[in-house]
Amino acid sequence: MKAAVVNSHHHVDVVDKKLRPLEHGEALLSMECCGVCHTDLHVKNGDFGDKTGVILGHEGIGVVKEIGPGVSSLKVGDRASVAWFFEGCGHCEYCTSGNETLCRNVKNAGYTVDGGMAEECIVVADYAVKVPDGLDSAAASSVTCAGVTTYKAVKVSEIKPGQWIAIYGLGGLGNLALQYAKNVFNAKVIAVDVNDKQLAFAKEMGADLVINSRTEDAAKFIQEKTGGAHAAVVTAVAKAAFNSAVDAVRAGARVVAVGLPPESMSLDIPRLVLDGIQVVGSLVGTRKDLTEAFQFAAEGKVVPKVTRRPIEDINTIFEEMEQGKIQGRMVIDFGQK
Ligand code: NAD
Ligand code: ZN
Ligand code: ZN
Repeated sequence: MKAAVVNSHHHVDVVDKKLRPLEHGEALLSMECCGVCHTDLHVKNGDFGDKTGVILGHEGIGVVKEIGPGVSSLKVGDRASVAWFFEGCGHCEYCTSGNETLCRNVKNAGYTVDGGMAEECIVVADYAVKVPDGLDSAAASSVTCAGVTTYKAVKVSEIKPGQWIAIYGLGGLGNLALQYAKNVFNAKVIAVDVNDKQLAFAKEMGADLVINSRTEDAAKFIQEKTGGAHAAVVTAVAKAAFNSAVDAVRAGARVVAVGLPPESMSLDIPRLVLDGIQVVGSLVGTRKDLTEAFQFAAEGKVVPKVTRRPIEDINTIFEEMEQGKIQGRMVIDFGQK
């Protein structure tokens, strides 16, 4: 089977691979699609350490082709996901308290274990979330990381209906953050990006205010227009956006860090203390979060913008991503030859 594998030159090779036999509790998925997340770009670039040899992909959707011994949660023919949160230990304090993505012995698809950017993928059945009927596989692939991550981040932001939330970065994650914030949490959204095309797209998706932080001071604009946002979610891959978000919110607000630029942000201590600002990281979502995020997409409240591409385009897709040319998500379609 064809698979997208990271090589030692920060490039991806599409190679022919053979998977091992299934073990207890595992299922084999015949992959339909896999979205290309900016995290895949960080992984292949070695931003989180050398990952030569791993099969990328954590926005995968496939159909169960075979189940191993002891599997009761999936059956042949079910559609299921391959997510960044691939498996937890199941018994630590994080796994047993609704914080399973923080498990210290977690496995991540397309990072510590082979992922879904391949014609077939082995998953741990109990951790592969089923896709509801009526949700197209390409749309579901986007929800598997971009969707669940931003749905969870908006939850963590503690935004209330009618309040202002600033979304920094309107790429693959950000446009779904906007849609969950607006259509599920009933918040008012300020979209901040450095690219006018992303802002035009955000406007189409229902952003109440848009601001280009390359040409204007976004924090000043947000303070003037709203009196300070009640929360911010930062998906941008630049520390400038994290710094701006802290300046854009009102006292007592939460700034939720989601983007992963490999650098440090500046935090003005008096601003943090005197204004009671909380800066909190949010990592993907639990299986339950993913079930909920899928359901909202199946109900049409959130509509991922996806473009289907063949696996051979993977290096071109990463170039387009680096150049900021992608709107929504590029999705590897395994039906395309
Ligand atoms: P993307 O490339 O699709 O989108 C990034 C967006 O940020 C683009 O629209 C870009 O124009 C915008 N941007 C760049 N610099 C900016 C700035 N200074 N201010 C405002 N906007 C700016 O990427 P993506 O797939 O949406 O991923 C975004 C980040 O989130 C990546 O770092 C990725 O690794 C990370 N991520 C984190 C989690 C998590 O669980 N926390 C999950 C998935 C992805
Ligand atoms: Zn991702
Ligand atoms: Zn655990």
